[in-house]
Amino acid sequence: MSKNPVNSIVITELRKSYDRTAGSESTYAVDGVSFDVPKGQFVTLLGPSGCGKTTTLRCVAGLEQATGGRIEMGGQVMFDVPQKIHVRPEDRPIAMVPQSYGIWPHMTVLDNAAFPMRHGRNRRKGQDIRARALDMLDQVGLAPMADRWATQLSGGQQQRLAFARALLGDPEVLLLDEPLSNLDAKLRSKLRQELRSFQEQFGVTALYVTHDQAEALALSDIVIVMNHGHIEQIDHPERLYDHPRSSFVADFIGSANLLPVQDVSPLRDGDGVTAKTDVGPVVCGRSSADESQRPSSGGYVCVRPENVRIRTTTEGQEPKLGDAEFLATVDSSEFLGDRLELVVRAADIPITVSARAGLGCRPGDQVVVGFDANTTTYLAS
Ligand code: ADP
Repeated sequence: MSKNPVNSIVITELRKSYDRTAGSESTYAVDGVSFDVPKGQFVTLLGPSGCGKTTTLRCVAGLEQATGGRIEMGGQVMFDVPQKIHVRPEDRPIAMVPQSYGIWPHMTVLDNAAFPMRHGRNRRKGQDIRARALDMLDQVGLAPMADRWATQLSGGQQQRLAFARALLGDPEVLLLDEPLSNLDAKLRSKLRQELRSFQEQFGVTALYVTHDQAEALALSDIVIVMNHGHIEQIDHPERLYDHPRSSFVADFIGSANLLPVQDVSPLRDGDGVTAKTDVGPVVCGRSSADESQRPSSGGYVCVRPENVRIRTTTEGQEPKLGDAEFLATVDSSEFLGDRLELVVRAADIPITVSARAGLGCRPGDQVVVGFDANTTTYLAS
């Protein structure tokens, strides 16, 4: 009986070093990573190039042997260092969809789809194979092309075939390594929607790797943000954007203004803080750390460009400043059709502002800038 019946994968303290001689922490490509992949969910490993996403996925697949930690799938131990368990990739309940889809060019569409039933972990016999493959091809809209060569399919059709073939191996989890990265932007966005709707339709569990934050936010139920072999944050897409826990996550997911903080003091009511910055004291309604773990200095005030308030001033008149407002000078202004992208400067700190297109201001103009406490976050690191 599984200890974790609701989790398809449980990863505990996974470590991988490619360096066989050194054992220092800096040599770990994956350095103590723990996470769960709940059944039926779409979970994405997201982070910049070299942060350890592919290494983690390859350890899950068994294509790399980890240096330490434990991997369980469907309640069974696949890898454990003290117990000396390393289940071979072909014996793990997974199917991998690589970047290039891995379609066999010398086989028909039907034979490609049937491959895991003829050669995989859950081999079958007889007519059942053809009937099941045809049924799955029908569900992904490829039944009329069953007897064509796989190379005669378009990029999108090849992706559907790769997906159908993976599902026909009855995997506990589908592992996808940047499967859309070789496509142009328009096709990528179309296939992204298709991939998500197939995943929902078949209720399959997916572990996906990408460095593209838009792709991760659009596709995932849960995003795991990685940096330098560590996990920075595990959260739902909306929460990652609205409640980043570190300056790295805030900057990597969307764009963020990060103002260095000198001192922090708690608000009398609620969880927020007042943070002293070079533009003045800023009231932050949210804080990445609760009071017991909050430092008294350092960290950043984080405000998204669309949450910065801005108004123009009239030349020759002294502007009246409200609470949490300060003066800034426009550095640059870019018209983007539906909005203006401005960079303003206060106390030598550049602040990006997404403003309404009708706001009349040009480089060199003085403006009043304000932050609202309920959209401003204090980040301790
Ligand atoms: P990502 O998928 O996030 O781009 P990787 O997991 O591919 O990152 O790589 C993580 C780190 O491990 C990088 O520093 C990379 O250079 C290193 N690395 C990856 N594969 C190997 C390998 N086969 N041999 C040695 N170092 C590797």
